[in-house]
Amino acid sequence: MISPIFFRKAILLAIFAVCGCMSSVASGFTLVIDPGHGKQDFGAVGKITNEKSINLAVALKLGKLIKENMPDVKIVYTRNNDTFVPLQGRADIANKAKGDLFISIHANSIDKRAKNYRTIAGASVYTLGFRRSEENLAVAMRENAVMKLESDYSTTYEGFDPNSTESYIIFEMSQNKHMEQSIEAANEIQKELVSTAGRKDRGVRQANFWVLFKTSMPAILVELDFICNPEMERFMNSESGQNKLATAIYNGFARYKAAEDKRVGNATAAPKILTAKSATALNDSQEAKATRLADSGNSKNEQSGNTPIIYKVQFLVSSKKLSAGSPKLKGIGDADYYTDGGMIKYTTGAFESEQDAAQRLVEVRKKFPDAFIIKTQGNKRIK
Ligand SMILES: [Zn+2]
Repeated sequence: MISPIFFRKAILLAIFAVCGCMSSVASGFTLVIDPGHGKQDFGAVGKITNEKSINLAVALKLGKLIKENMPDVKIVYTRNNDTFVPLQGRADIANKAKGDLFISIHANSIDKRAKNYRTIAGASVYTLGFRRSEENLAVAMRENAVMKLESDYSTTYEGFDPNSTESYIIFEMSQNKHMEQSIEAANEIQKELVSTAGRKDRGVRQANFWVLFKTSMPAILVELDFICNPEMERFMNSESGQNKLATAIYNGFARYKAAEDKRVGNATAAPKILTAKSATALNDSQEAKATRLADSGNSKNEQSGNTPIIYKVQFLVSSKKLSAGSPKLKGIGDADYYTDGGMIKYTTGAFESEQDAAQRLVEVRKKFPDAFIIKTQGNKRIK
């Protein structure tokens, strides 16, 4: 027979156990969003923009969608502006926040000498894992290389050398406790990047990223698309492209979380799935305005073929071609040019809307007060 005191204790224990469980349910889900690179670390660089800017823009849009549609999810950013956070620092932030999922956002690129440098396209979501693949190792090496920007990287990263193949053996010896959930999340987001954001499917992959290795929670790294491909770069640089990408990651996350809730026995409603259309609607007014601006310029050029109209900021005319680092360019790193009447005309930026170009113009005029916006098609100025 059980003594009444023991029985009371047992009931109390049972109540405590239930309460403990309940409180963890009530505390909700913490998502850590990690926009790759920042400040002096530009990540991969394209013709009109760079990786750190794309990553941050998509990350902030993703956070906004989650805040609006899944208010019970707590969001922690590793950075929410243009600052430099070391790889280990990102993992530390995620671990301190006791994240339930870590999503690192990046844009891909390949070796400049590769034949398909300008044509390679597609999204892939990575999880941590040791599969011997040259291609995936190259991506991990590029993303891990940022640790070399830290003066004491050898100490912080335990002697790990991001450029040495042998260094990657440490990953082989570690256990990945969160592999299944990470792959689950990666699968959901990968599917959405294809269906909602219209990206070419490069599949879920495994590689050894330090930032995934050191986060003690399910963790994935999204490579949105290739910045070295000008068409994909324009997509990732545009408002509508960024909205589609953020919506895709949001949808994938919503599906993953709903499945997770079900698995641990938290009864929740079906995931709220957004359509790419409603994502575009986020910025409808802004885009309509940009289109009106473009139309008011000269509408007959809009119909000449499929080559897109691109706005650039012209800042300098020269009788001969300048070297890339010429002081005459006053440090404008992405300077491009077209030839017109035997002169070399230097431009910077490439924007789908005049409005975006106007933002750049303000910056450029600090160095070149006479700079102005031009409209181009196939690298020729049009009126
Ligand atoms: Zn990156």
